[in-house]
Amino acid sequence: MTQKTIGIMGAMPQEIDGVIALLENPVRKIIGMRTYTSGTINGINVVVVFSRWGKVAASATVAALIHVFNVAEVIFTGVAGAIDPTLNIGDIVIAKRLYQHDMDARPLMQQFEIPLLGKTFFECDALKVEKVKHVITPLIADNLLKESIGTDVLAEFGIDTPNLHIGDIASGDQFFANNDQKLRLHAALPTILCVEMEGAAVAQVCFEHKVEYIIIRTISDAADDTSHIDFPKFIEKVSSKYSVAIIQQLLKG
Ligand code: SAH
Repeated sequence: MTQKTIGIMGAMPQEIDGVIALLENPVRKIIGMRTYTSGTINGINVVVVFSRWGKVAASATVAALIHVFNVAEVIFTGVAGAIDPTLNIGDIVIAKRLYQHDMDARPLMQQFEIPLLGKTFFECDALKVEKVKHVITPLIADNLLKESIGTDVLAEFGIDTPNLHIGDIASGDQFFANNDQKLRLHAALPTILCVEMEGAAVAQVCFEHKVEYIIIRTISDAADDTSHIDFPKFIEKVSSKYSVAIIQQLLKG
């Protein structure tokens, strides 16, 4: 029996580079301005790729993972801006449902409805989400993240003990960096925890191909104009470590 292949994608090169470093026997293939690196992690076949930013970039990348590399499952890890006020920088969100917040074909259909699918959101497999929650919990409960990143670095970003959330995520082709924009989005989609630019696109393509998917996001900013975080520094020092720790934990074998 041939073993299934898992696609691992992320929207930050630094995060993906850390995951590529875990690969045994890496083989690179360039398609459409993206480098897909195949190999194994703990004996599990994986293909790792930097998706680039936004819904189109993410969709094209997932399509190649499915058609060229025949992946049976996609894991997306990356950063996101907090929308729900209970979230803090450094928290982890596992997506339950994903909305495309900039999809609006009114009056032809209701706001957020994806044409021809009759859906306003993509729902992640509940059992899989629970399984991932169970596997990621030790990163926080057993202080594994604190050990791999260092409490001093976490403190620099105001992170004490990160929380793990399961909830709704909105994706769209916009970087959220002001209060009005953030409030409008929260009013339109009150259940969402965070906003990013790829997750719901990945979910749509996977849904259409009956491929399993899981979207995991680390909160990098508050998606508003008070956010004083140094984005590149956060990616380099914190979220790239999160991604590696999350993937290691998921593929423990
Ligand atoms: N400033 C970065 C560009 C990152 S684009 C740079 O120049 O290096 C933003 C990426 O982070 C996307 O992958 C998106 O999914 C995620 N993201 C993080 N915070 C976000 C926010 N506030 N709004 C939208 N996307 C966000």
